[in-house]
Amino acid sequence: MHSYLGVRTALALVVAVIAAAASLVLNGDAQASLIVLVCAAAAVLIAAGGGDPAPAPPPRWSEATREPAIADVVEAIAEPVLVIADNRVEAANQGARELLGEHVLGEDVRVAIRHPAAAERLMRADNGAPGAPIHLVGLGTRDQRWEMRVRTLGDGRRVVHLVDRTGSYAAERMRVDFVANASHELRTPLASMLGYVETLREDAGDDPETRSRFLKIVFGEAQRMQRLIEDLISLSRIEAEKYRVPDKDVDLAELTQQVTVELSGSPRAADLVTQIADVPPVAGDPTQLSQILHNVIGNAMKYGREGTPVTVSLQPEGEAMVRLTVSDEGEGIPAQHLPRLTERFYRVDSGRSRSLGGTGLGLAIVKHIVERHRGRLDIASTVGKGTTVTMLLPVRRLS
Ligand code: ADP
Repeated sequence: MHSYLGVRTALALVVAVIAAAASLVLNGDAQASLIVLVCAAAAVLIAAGGGDPAPAPPPRWSEATREPAIADVVEAIAEPVLVIADNRVEAANQGARELLGEHVLGEDVRVAIRHPAAAERLMRADNGAPGAPIHLVGLGTRDQRWEMRVRTLGDGRRVVHLVDRTGSYAAERMRVDFVANASHELRTPLASMLGYVETLREDAGDDPETRSRFLKIVFGEAQRMQRLIEDLISLSRIEAEKYRVPDKDVDLAELTQQVTVELSGSPRAADLVTQIADVPPVAGDPTQLSQILHNVIGNAMKYGREGTPVTVSLQPEGEAMVRLTVSDEGEGIPAQHLPRLTERFYRVDSGRSRSLGGTGLGLAIVKHIVERHRGRLDIASTVGKGTTVTMLLPVRRLS
């Protein structure tokens, strides 16, 4: 760019010299020619010295818009944002005031964000680049996790932006825990099977009675693995479909009768009592609704006391819902466990659940299916008396 201007300037100067020489030849007036030469050269140099004006920075506001005050801009952002001038809080939006307190305006920023890692970052000089965000644990409530980003403006003020990462951190933790739990649940029966097969290959395999006993155990462990894998596949299928609301007409009364027939071979089939009212069809996925019934009735049979009734009741709930309840008269569940029962692999008594063939995934599957159907699930229990699981499912709307 510079060398191009230099060549142009030199050419213009040559033209100025030629003009002055022509004037001398044509007029024979050396003084006038000298004036022409000096003026032309000066004009060339002025033009070259000015160059083209530097390209204007891209506009930050449209011409029609008045530049908004910075406090208005930060107020429009939902996440907490602070503007810092000379280490004092010059502006704090509503999100920041709710998190740090109404009093933060004008305060020293280290006092406003009472967190050692934040104070250390804010005291560090920076070059205006955004830099890596830092993570703050325990700002607001003890379990909250925030990401803090600091950006220096052209005039030296700094913008502190806090992003709530509590939800994504919890989701990541759940994912990691789930993989660890699933691996552990699969490894346990596998290790047992390998152990028995190894023993059978040695001397124990020669004794028909021992062989038959060991093979029965291996078969049982293989079935346990199969149940677990089937439940894991069910869970991932339901999760994959969770945003697709099921819309088939399902007659829950008919489906409940069908499930009770399917369960008629189970040891507690005689305890099953059904109270089925006339209910409108629900909008659903028949396979998943049948799975709900199997899991909840199965639990009531497993954990209810032998010889006491397991009652399945179906009633209308207003105009828009159908209420499905399954009650047992078992030992019940202590209140502190109730909120966690639908977590994957959560069991009140792991030994008991495993000995009864439980995978720890039944109620997690129920919860996901009910959510996919836009329904509601409630588990109520009294220790010593029994448990009632209630599901409300939306009636199919006639369009
Ligand atoms: P599991 O395969 O272990 O039965 P679930 O997810 O179906 O897993 O249930 C989770 C836990 O909730 C069970 O391990 C059990 O401790 C408890 N639970 C579920 N239903 C009942 C019930 N009807 N009565 C007592 N405890 C129950």
